[in-house]
Amino acid sequence: RTELLALLASDTEEIAPLRKPYMQPVSVDQLRQALNNNAYEAHFQPKTSCFTGKLVGFECLARWPQKEGGMIPPDQFISLAEQSGLINELTRQIYRYALANLPLTARDQNLKYALNLSPLNLLDQTFPRWLLTECQKNDISPSSIILEVTETASMDNPLALLESLTQFRIRGFQLSIDDFGVGYSSLVQLARLPFSELKIDQMFVKTLSTSEESQKIVAAVIGLGKSLGLNVVAEGVEDEIAFNYLRDLGCDEAQGYFIARPMDSSAASAWSKK
Ligand code: C2E
Ligand code: MG
Ligand code: MG
Ligand code: MG
Repeated sequence: RTELLALLASDTEEIAPLRKPYMQPVSVDQLRQALNNNAYEAHFQPKTSCFTGKLVGFECLARWPQKEGGMIPPDQFISLAEQSGLINELTRQIYRYALANLPLTARDQNLKYALNLSPLNLLDQTFPRWLLTECQKNDISPSSIILEVTETASMDNPLALLESLTQFRIRGFQLSIDDFGVGYSSLVQLARLPFSELKIDQMFVKTLSTSEESQKIVAAVIGLGKSLGLNVVAEGVEDEIAFNYLRDLGCDEAQGYFIARPMDSSAASAWSKK
């Protein structure tokens, strides 16, 4: 039992399925208190090249560690932060943590680090400049940072969206359209907005080995992304069948449990050196 408890307390997501999911609803007060305590962190999930199998970078994913062990995953607090006006502060805290704790350093091997942007962050006009300053403080080139924007970051005001995305682009950040295929982005937006990467939603990728429909959708999306000159990434790669299928179709990069789960910074560094 002691061993099991130690295992559960250990900071790796390899054993995440063993942990009881943290289901208690989160309150705005708890969110705010955690912000004041600087409690938010990030884990890092490797992305690899489909062609060479080599590590190309990491996605930084928000985590809220609990005193009693375990982590509250972002799905359980990001949207509440958005609704309660705390998202700008929260994003800055997560980014500050991620940038100060990147596995390896940005100078090594030209690795790219992806950070998730809330649609609401796009309305914060001070954010691009703030992020540039944070990168400079940590000696990280903006060109090694990819900002992932979900399709739902929408889209009802394409001009305003273009303007705010451009504020990141002119500072050298790269932009990625996240969860592609399940949201609202139109093909026109994909082609005209300054994205350099497309991430196929994991819903289609997870089911590649079992669903012919997913296979067709993924093939079409890879073709679309490639013909628009985008770097195409598949997330939710859970098995070898999916990985091989993606590679054969010319998908550029893969991310998923088949390669590695998200890990804390030191585990991610160790993983990338093995
Ligand atoms: P996302 O950006 O699409 O990130 C991918 C999610 O899929 C992550 O969940 C990751 O742990 C999970 N995942 C990766 N590979 C696999 C796989 O092979 N199988 C399965 N079943 N899942 C896989 P996570 O960390 O729980 O994050 C969920 C979502 O929360 C993210 O989806 C993103 O939209 C949001 N999020 C995470 N961090 C942040 C953040 O710092 N800011 C904002 N605004 N949103 C964030
Ligand atoms: Mg993402
Ligand atoms: Mg995604
Ligand atoms: Mg997602």
